[in-house]
Amino acid sequence: MQTKDTLYIGGDWVAPATTQTIEVISPTTEEVIARVPEATEGDVDRAVAAAKEALAGPYPQLSPAERAEYLRKLSLAIQARSQEIADLITAEMGSPASWALMGQVFSSTMALDGWADLTETFPFEEIRPGAIGPVLVRKEPVGVTAGIIPWNVPLFIVALKLGAALAAGAPMILKPSPETPVDGYILGEILDEIGLPKGMVSILPAGREVGEYLVRHPGVDKVGFTGSTAAGRKVGAICGEMLKRCTLELGGKSAAIILEDADLAATLPLLMPNSLMNNGEACIAQTRILAPRSRYGEVVDAVAEAVKGQTVGDPADPSVAIGPLVAERQRDRVLGYIDKGRSEGAKLAVGGGRPAGLEKGWFVEPTLFVDVDNGMTIAQEEIFGPVLSILPYDDPADAVRIANDSDYGLSGSVWTTDVEAGIDVARRVRTGTYGINQFGTLDLRNPFGGFKASGVGRELGPEGLSAYLETKSIVLPGDYTPPS
Ligand code: NAD
Repeated sequence: MQTKDTLYIGGDWVAPATTQTIEVISPTTEEVIARVPEATEGDVDRAVAAAKEALAGPYPQLSPAERAEYLRKLSLAIQARSQEIADLITAEMGSPASWALMGQVFSSTMALDGWADLTETFPFEEIRPGAIGPVLVRKEPVGVTAGIIPWNVPLFIVALKLGAALAAGAPMILKPSPETPVDGYILGEILDEIGLPKGMVSILPAGREVGEYLVRHPGVDKVGFTGSTAAGRKVGAICGEMLKRCTLELGGKSAAIILEDADLAATLPLLMPNSLMNNGEACIAQTRILAPRSRYGEVVDAVAEAVKGQTVGDPADPSVAIGPLVAERQRDRVLGYIDKGRSEGAKLAVGGGRPAGLEKGWFVEPTLFVDVDNGMTIAQEEIFGPVLSILPYDDPADAVRIANDSDYGLSGSVWTTDVEAGIDVARRVRTGTYGINQFGTLDLRNPFGGFKASGVGRELGPEGLSAYLETKSIVLPGDYTPPS
C-alpha cells in the first residue's frame, strides 16, 4: 500500500489545497493499493501561477541543444527505473507485465529520445525570403500548456505531450487519471533528479471536473488532451470558445485488412498482439479484422485459435497475455458490448464472458465475434477491451469501403505479401497512422493522430512539435545581413 501526502506543483512537493484523496484499486485483487491526494482547483491555480513564472525563464530561453539535454536526461532516468515503473503501471491498471516494460516504459523513453533528436535539428529560427526583404521566422513556446492523460498508457502519453512541451520550451501541467496517479510520483522524483528548472512541470492527479477547470483556466494557453471522443468534444468546445490551442487524441476503431495473398502464419503472430495489446485497452488496437470472402473460413479458424490461446490472469505473471480491465465499470461496459453483439446477430466464436476460476478482478475473456456486419454496434463503437470482430469483404475496394465506414480514423493496417498493393490500400484508408505487415502502427518519430472523430492535430515528429509552438514573423530591413 502506497500513501502519498504531497502534490508536485511547480517543481516542489507541497501540501495539497484540500484533504481530498484518490484511492487506487487494484484491478486484479480489487483491493486498495494506494492513496494519493486529489488535486483540486486551488492546486490548479498554484500550478498555473508557477508555470507562468517559468515561462519567463530560464528554461524557455535555453538553446535547443540544452533543452535536448534535459530530454535525454529524462529518458535515461526513466530507463534507470524502468522495471519499477512497469510494475507499478501493471499494479495500477492491469497492463500485462509481458507487454508493460516495452509498451508502457521503453516506448516512452524512445519517444523522449526522438524529441531530443528533433529538438537539435528543428528550425526554431530561420530567415526566409519575403515579398520585400528577408523575414526572420521564429518558433516560440506556445505558452502555458496542460496535458490531460488517460489511464491506459499513462507514462507514454506523458512522453508524447511533455516531450513536445519541453522541446518547445513550454511549461506543462499534467493531469493524470484518477486510475493511475502513482506513476506520476516517480516522474516527479525523476524531474527533481535531472534538475529541471522549477515551475516547468506540475503533476495534478484528479478527475474530470478538475480537468475541465484546468482546460478552462485563463492562464492555460494550450491543451493537449488524450482520452475518449466524448470528453474530447467537450475539451475541444471549451478551447474553441476560448481560442486556446488544442490537440485532441481520441478513440479508434481500427481495421486490419488481410489481403487475399497474405501469409496467415506470418500475419497472426504480429496482428494478434496488435489487436489485443494492453488487454485491448489501446486506442490503436486493430479490433475489426477484415478478411477476403474467399479465405474467410480459414482466417476465422486461425484467429479463433490464436484468441483461444491467449492466457488470462494475474498481469504481474509474465506468462499472462491478458490481464484485468482497469475498473469494474470498464469490465461491465465491455460485457455490455458483448451482449449487444449477440443480440444484434453477430456469432460468438470465442469467449464472451468472465473467465472461469478468476473470482476476483475485472477480467473478461478474450472474445471473438464472426459474421459481423459493419453496421453493428460492436463494429462501430470503441469497446476498449479484448473483443475482436471478423468481417468478410469482397475485394480490396470493398475492404477499404468497410474500413472507412467508421466515425473514427486513428489507425489501421494491411497484411499482404505485395507491399505495393499494401501501400495502395494504405493510401485509400482515411486514418492518421497505418502499418503494412507491422505489429506497431505508430512510429515514435513521425506524426501520430486521428482523422475524423479520432482527433484534431498531431503528436510526435515536427508536426507534433509545431503544435506546442507559436510562429512569429519578424520582417527585417531589405538590406539586412545576419551577423557572421
Ligand atoms: P476519458 O476521456 O474518460 O479520460 C481521459 C482523461 O481526460 C482523464 O484524465 C480524465 O480525467 C480527463 N477528462 C475527462 N473528461 C474531461 C473533461 N471534460 N475536461 C477535462 N478533462 C477530462 O478517457 P479514458 O477512459 O481515461 O481513456 C480511454 C480513452 O482514451 C479511449 O477512448 C482511448 O481510445 C483514448 N485514447 C486515445 C489515444 C490516442 O492517442 N488517440 C491514446 C490513448 C487513449
